[in-house]
Amino acid sequence: MLGLVRPHRRVLALGALLSLITGATGLALPLVARALIENLSAERAITGALVAMTALVLANAVIGAVGGYVLQRTAESVVLDARRSLVSHLLRLRIGAVDRSEPGDLLARVTSDTTLLRSVTTDSLIGFGTGGLTLVATVVLMAVVDAPLLGVTLGVIALAALVIGVIVPRIHRASKRAQESVGAMGATLERVLGAMRTIKASGAEDREERVVHEAAEASWRESVRAAKWSALAGNTAGLAIQAAFITVLAVGGARVASGAIDVATLVAFLLYVFYLMAPIQQLVAAVTRYQVGAAAIDRMGETRRLPVEPAAPAGAAGPEGDDPGPAALRFEGVRFRYADDLSDVHHGIDLDIPARGMTAFVGPSGAGKTTLFSLIERFHEPSAGRILLDGTDLREWELHRLRGAIGYVEQDAPVLSGTLRDNLLLGRPDAGEEEIREVLRTARLDALVARLPEGLETRVGHRGTRLSGGERQRVAIARALLRRPRLLLLDEATSQLDAVNEAALRETVASAARATTVLVVAHRLSTVTAADRIVVLDAGRVRAVGTHAELVAGDDLYAELAATQFLDGTDESAGS
Ligand code: ADP
Ligand code: MG
Repeated sequence: MLGLVRPHRRVLALGALLSLITGATGLALPLVARALIENLSAERAITGALVAMTALVLANAVIGAVGGYVLQRTAESVVLDARRSLVSHLLRLRIGAVDRSEPGDLLARVTSDTTLLRSVTTDSLIGFGTGGLTLVATVVLMAVVDAPLLGVTLGVIALAALVIGVIVPRIHRASKRAQESVGAMGATLERVLGAMRTIKASGAEDREERVVHEAAEASWRESVRAAKWSALAGNTAGLAIQAAFITVLAVGGARVASGAIDVATLVAFLLYVFYLMAPIQQLVAAVTRYQVGAAAIDRMGETRRLPVEPAAPAGAAGPEGDDPGPAALRFEGVRFRYADDLSDVHHGIDLDIPARGMTAFVGPSGAGKTTLFSLIERFHEPSAGRILLDGTDLREWELHRLRGAIGYVEQDAPVLSGTLRDNLLLGRPDAGEEEIREVLRTARLDALVARLPEGLETRVGHRGTRLSGGERQRVAIARALLRRPRLLLLDEATSQLDAVNEAALRETVASAARATTVLVVAHRLSTVTAADRIVVLDAGRVRAVGTHAELVAGDDLYAELAATQFLDGTDESAGS
């Protein structure tokens, strides 16, 4: 919390000062009132006191308004800062952490949790500051007016403080659970809204509705619980003040009767008892609101602890010159597993892939082909061994430069909502119109774009739902080609294309392979046989490397795949 408000400490201090002045002008009123009562006979004194009171009340209102504005503004800035820092963190998360998180929950943390910081800043920090100071000032003034009555007052308030101390942790717990439920609701909603077709086709609307409703109700329940405890705490404070008033009236009445104090002093003291109301309620509100905010801060902390991608080591490698040419790739004893408690996906991969040319990876589903590509992108780090690009360990590359050299079409490559143009320019926002047209031609998208009334400005829907599967794949390929990659990774990138488009894109890929290094995972015999070399991957091991003819003769798994699993001709798509 302190970290969040530190950048705003000056404005916050100004706001606190203004609140203090507001409090002080308010506090002066009973003293003026006492002067007025004591001088009821002197007409000039009465006029003076009335003028003074009016001035105090006005000053109180104006300074209070300015102070309130300043504080509210600071609170909004704290929310903004929190959102910025969370988003910066989230966009740099390691893929492993992303895979373990629920996008909907992360969304709730950025949008919903952060709003709770607003009231923490205004009500609680300021409440602690001004409420605390006003309380101390009031107590000092009360001590000056009559010490024994102060003792009576503090005794009553201490009792109330004990009760409130029991309530506070309950507010924290309930608030945390309420926010967690909001996160769970976001996660479920995201899951449902992201797969509406499947939900409808499965007839699962009612069930999913219940799950979202339950999360919403859980949040409601916990928020109501927190509200109940907060209300109880607030009213305990109110009750304490009333009780103090009655006690002071009784004890003070006796003191007036015995001549220890005069009536004016008792009236002034009673006014101060009521003046305790505001700072005490401010303090109680501060404590209760802080519990709500602290729950949000807890969750922010959890998010901030998710691991981010590594920063570049000193002297990180990058491309030499403007046109470093196609990249060479080398795997040395690469082992990998997704988590310590999972078994190895790769058991020591050794491979040499020269610059230029096409290398095809084939193998049964689950062999580790996709995972191998994500190691090249450094979404994950090998648990042993190393991967070298142009002779340099990937870990020594600056991450952006490394990925800048690669065009990656992932399996089931997503098209993002937005326009076709947004999707193409994602990897290279500065591409020129001529280049875009060229890439549209090579990716066989020119006919589609010409047919669309809005052309490149057509909106493609969430995850490209307004495009066909084959069109989405071609958009993803065009996006990768537009980056002019030194290394092109195509993971089943043409699995959904019809035979005509597939043949055309094979040409495109083959011509790309003359200038860059191309790695493809494919299930079509035609794509595989077009490759310069074929790597047969099985259960995380390289079984064989060779040409189609060599492998058909020399590797029984490959011969079997070629005979049974490779799809070709008019077949629509392939599995895994
Ligand atoms: P392929 O692309 O060859 O079909 P993958 O590389 O996708 O195979 O998967 C290899 C193995 O790793 C499979 O057993 C799969 O279940 C597992 N796997 C893939 N992704 C993850 C992940 N994010 N977390 C844990 N295991 C995974
Ligand atoms: Mg795969």
